[in-house]
Amino acid sequence: MSEFAFELALCAHLERSSTPPIADSNPLVARQIGGSVADPGGRILDIVCVEPGLEFDARTAITDAEIPDAAIESAVGPGRSRYWKDAFDCHPNHARRAMERACEIGFFESERRNGREYVRQVARYPDWYDRIVAIENKPDLGRPGDLEMQLRTDVSLALVDEVILATESYVSRAHLHRLPDPVGVWRVHRDRDRSGGDPSAPERESSGKVETEAGVGVEIEVVREPTPLPTAGPGIEPLAFEPGRTEIEPVSAAEKARARRRLAERAYGKGWRTYDFPGCASCVPTDEAAATLPYCAWAGDFVDANADCGPDCPGYESAAAPEVDLDGERDRRTAWRASPSGHRRQQSGLDQFR
Ligand code: SF4
Repeated sequence: MSEFAFELALCAHLERSSTPPIADSNPLVARQIGGSVADPGGRILDIVCVEPGLEFDARTAITDAEIPDAAIESAVGPGRSRYWKDAFDCHPNHARRAMERACEIGFFESERRNGREYVRQVARYPDWYDRIVAIENKPDLGRPGDLEMQLRTDVSLALVDEVILATESYVSRAHLHRLPDPVGVWRVHRDRDRSGGDPSAPERESSGKVETEAGVGVEIEVVREPTPLPTAGPGIEPLAFEPGRTEIEPVSAAEKARARRRLAERAYGKGWRTYDFPGCASCVPTDEAAATLPYCAWAGDFVDANADCGPDCPGYESAAAPEVDLDGERDRRTAWRASPSGHRRQQSGLDQFR
């Protein structure tokens, strides 16, 4: 199975799982989210599960989009309006982009006074997220790529509360020994691959805990539970691994806290339904996993329209791309809310709101 198909199947499963990776919560699921603190840092987390915090409802009421970090960090508060240039401590271009975007999505409201733009927050920024779990997908452990380096980075940095490796491969003791101890390991089984088990696989060494969701088609076999990481303290971000030498960047606790907020915001705004449907007759949108996914009858799996599809594909047959409302689906099936009415007040005069 391609990593893309694996990732979509797992996201769909996690979204409706009754035993999510964060116990007793209904986590927000997102995919392909930046997981670095250093700038530039190249770590991209495959799947992120964010546990809603106490003030989650207040966050959903503000906007359905990611709120720019510079806008949250600025001195623009929910009290009196301030001249926007006095409220940002970053490059003016970056500040202007953040201010305009914050106004556009409804986190700021603005008014003009004497030819100057004054802004204020529509509401206090809420404390809306709690634990964050990152899942690294590697369906085939025979082709690990940078897996060890990626997981060592996540553990050393400790930006997220738990890290889990998800794979379809049999996980041997040798595999486990190569992974950092805190990393949890899941073996993922999909219905279409379940034909009486894998006779070549040695006996499972796992805890034997297997999660099954009727109708979803995915089982998660927990091979090893993750160990919580020390997110509240400082961390070390490895930037490059070379023989005998690792380039690192120390990261303070405050920098990590801000990066966690960026990560949670990105996950809230983006989610995981960020795929397209190809204009090909072989693509049949399927909701077998309780989410509408780009299933290709010719390939027999979910396909990445931008990477897999086009006239060069032997199974390609031109057709209109299916019309699918993925935001509407996310709104119906998760705690994320599309287009909330927001808190923006009507401006009644040049210097007043009502
Ligand atoms: S272009 Fe190929 S992979 Fe894509 S939907 Fe059509 S047949 Fe499937």
